[in-house]
Amino acid sequence: MKTSSFRFPGGGRTGRKLIWRVFLFSSLITLLLTALQLYLDFRADVAGINSFLESIQRTDLRPIAQSVWILDDVQVNLQLEGLIHRQDIVYAAVEVEDGPGWHRGSPIPRRAITATFPLHYEHHGKDELLGRLRVAASLEGVYGRLLRRVKVILLANGIKTFLVIGFALLIFQYMVTRHLVHMAAFVQDLEVHRQQPPLRLDRPSSRAPDELDLVVNGINHMRQRGYQTFCALREREQRLRLFFDSTEEAIFGVGLDGRCTFANQACLRLLGHADQREVLEKDIVSLVQPPSCPGGSGRRIRSLVFAAMRGERSVSSDEEKLCRGDGGWLPIALRVYPVLECGRCRGAVVFFADISEQQRLQHEKHLLARVVHQSPLSVVISDARGKITYVNPGFEKITGYGADEVVGRRPFFLHNDLLDPHQYRRIRATLRRGEQWRGRLTNTTRSGAVFNLDTVISAVRGTDGRVTNLVAVSRDITREMELQDQLHHAQKLEAIGKLSASIAHEFGNPLLGVRFAVRDIKTRFTRDSEEYRMMDLAERECDRMKKMIRDLQHFNRPTTGVRARFPLHDILDDILLFHRRFLVSRRIRLLKRYTGEPVYILAVEDQIRQVFVNLLLNAGEAMGREGGTITVSTEVRGKMVAVSIGDTGVGIRAEHLDHVFEPFFTTKLEVEGTGLGLPVSYGIVTGHGGDITVRSIPGRETVFTVTLPLA
Ligand code: ADP
Ligand code: MG
Repeated sequence: MKTSSFRFPGGGRTGRKLIWRVFLFSSLITLLLTALQLYLDFRADVAGINSFLESIQRTDLRPIAQSVWILDDVQVNLQLEGLIHRQDIVYAAVEVEDGPGWHRGSPIPRRAITATFPLHYEHHGKDELLGRLRVAASLEGVYGRLLRRVKVILLANGIKTFLVIGFALLIFQYMVTRHLVHMAAFVQDLEVHRQQPPLRLDRPSSRAPDELDLVVNGINHMRQRGYQTFCALREREQRLRLFFDSTEEAIFGVGLDGRCTFANQACLRLLGHADQREVLEKDIVSLVQPPSCPGGSGRRIRSLVFAAMRGERSVSSDEEKLCRGDGGWLPIALRVYPVLECGRCRGAVVFFADISEQQRLQHEKHLLARVVHQSPLSVVISDARGKITYVNPGFEKITGYGADEVVGRRPFFLHNDLLDPHQYRRIRATLRRGEQWRGRLTNTTRSGAVFNLDTVISAVRGTDGRVTNLVAVSRDITREMELQDQLHHAQKLEAIGKLSASIAHEFGNPLLGVRFAVRDIKTRFTRDSEEYRMMDLAERECDRMKKMIRDLQHFNRPTTGVRARFPLHDILDDILLFHRRFLVSRRIRLLKRYTGEPVYILAVEDQIRQVFVNLLLNAGEAMGREGGTITVSTEVRGKMVAVSIGDTGVGIRAEHLDHVFEPFFTTKLEVEGTGLGLPVSYGIVTGHGGDITVRSIPGRETVFTVTLPLA
């Protein structure tokens, strides 16, 4: 410990002050006591003089009066001389009325006690007044003695006080002052950043701690607390520094004058500086917006900082720009915090971060959200457990369900009977394997209509690899599938048509030859012979085959013949009238529901007639013995007219519906049905640019609808 470097100022001034006060006090007491002593001495002296003067009356007056009576000068003078030899008596005189009298001693001084006694003499019993004896005692002697005594007392007391005080000073120096000096030096040299040995005084340890021990303990406690506080502060500072230099957020500080006081590494990097010294003392504007970058938000940032300092509150903004080293602009988010010390603002700390990536992501997010929102595709997002959390308007449009109706539910409610019951299980298994599921889903809309979706379902994973969401993106392919079905159907029929036509062509000529041969042979037999009947049957079968071949030829050549414009209703009425007998014989009631407006079509008349005849005959043949109702109705749909022929017959079974337009498909007895009526009709109608469709409820009704273009 460097106690030697420290000197108590004035070398023990406390002791001296103490001693000086003790000296003054003891002097005062000495003076007071001396004064009291003198006063008492003075009183005793004066009393001594007075008692002497009183004793003169008793002892000296008679002999002096006798000497004066006999006028014995010598004796009187001797007696007076005897009086003035007494202490303090300076003058004695006998004064007589008629003479000069006698006197001895010096004249009476100013401060004196004078006594006068009458001198009586008894002569023959007669009292004679001879004169007066005057005696004067000087007080100068009394004063002189007092003065001497004062000197002695003062000297003695002075020596005593000096010795006592000197001793006290030494003791005080030894017991207190040197320790105080030591403590002062210890405190002066105290360094809180180091662990130092505690303060110890150089004195024997006393059993009961005195005030100095208390002070030493206090200082040592303070030293320990100071070091602990320093360590805590150092740790905090290290942590702060670590944060300060490692954070990606740029931080700089400004003083009340708006000049930079510090900047961290991230800040220097963003501002394009290598060393903190390049930015210190720079004004905010020139810091964030160098002169080479005009028109930035430097001034705005400066005013934000000052607003924070003035208002003593934090200020933030996400719309500021910073000039980059290459002259471009960097969008930043800015936060300013005022630095308050003892309730007063001392400056501000500015935090800012590059938010270009954030803005890009935000933009991307908005774009994605818009794409998903506006996409015609159905997008369904569900949580990991499959509960729907989001559906886009595309989904709402396709399914008819509003978002509020489906959020929180599982997508099974869209499930359709047609759907494979194990499909959802397979989808889940695929997703669980971490694969994407692709395929077709058949679901039902809110109104019950069936629709088909081409769907991709994929799992969305979080950063920890766990599935957080499932996303199903689907395209409605219902119409597409319908069209494809129709196309397939048309292609099939076309192929079959070509095949049948070529068969008809190939079979037609040989059949003609066979028929001629059969007719020729027939004529060679008599009419009632067995051979004739057999040949006749063969000829009729040939005719039937000829008719079938003609039908087959029609099948794929509907456009032959001349198209003309004629009224549709007239043709229908004509056909119905012609087949009245057929209908009546089968107990069939006929209903006509024609549209009110006149309808003209452009068609090959006999072909169109054949179509309606086919349909009418099929309808009639579908009725049982108890009959039924056939309804013929027409309806204009835009540029087309639809003719529906419905019956209340046996209906068509679902598995047959797809096949009724195929050639040779018949459910009738071999002699009754050829299975060519519907395919031929189909060929004719499509050849006219129209279409035939059928719907049927087995056991209840069947409706064939022919659409044809209006003329
Ligand atoms: P065909 O009448 O010679 O059997 P089509 O081509 O005219 O041949 O008809 C094919 C098949 O379609 C019929 O055998 C019948 O099963 C079915 N069909 C056609 N029209 C009807 C109808 N109106 N009601 C019930 N079934 C019908
Ligand atoms: Mg038929």
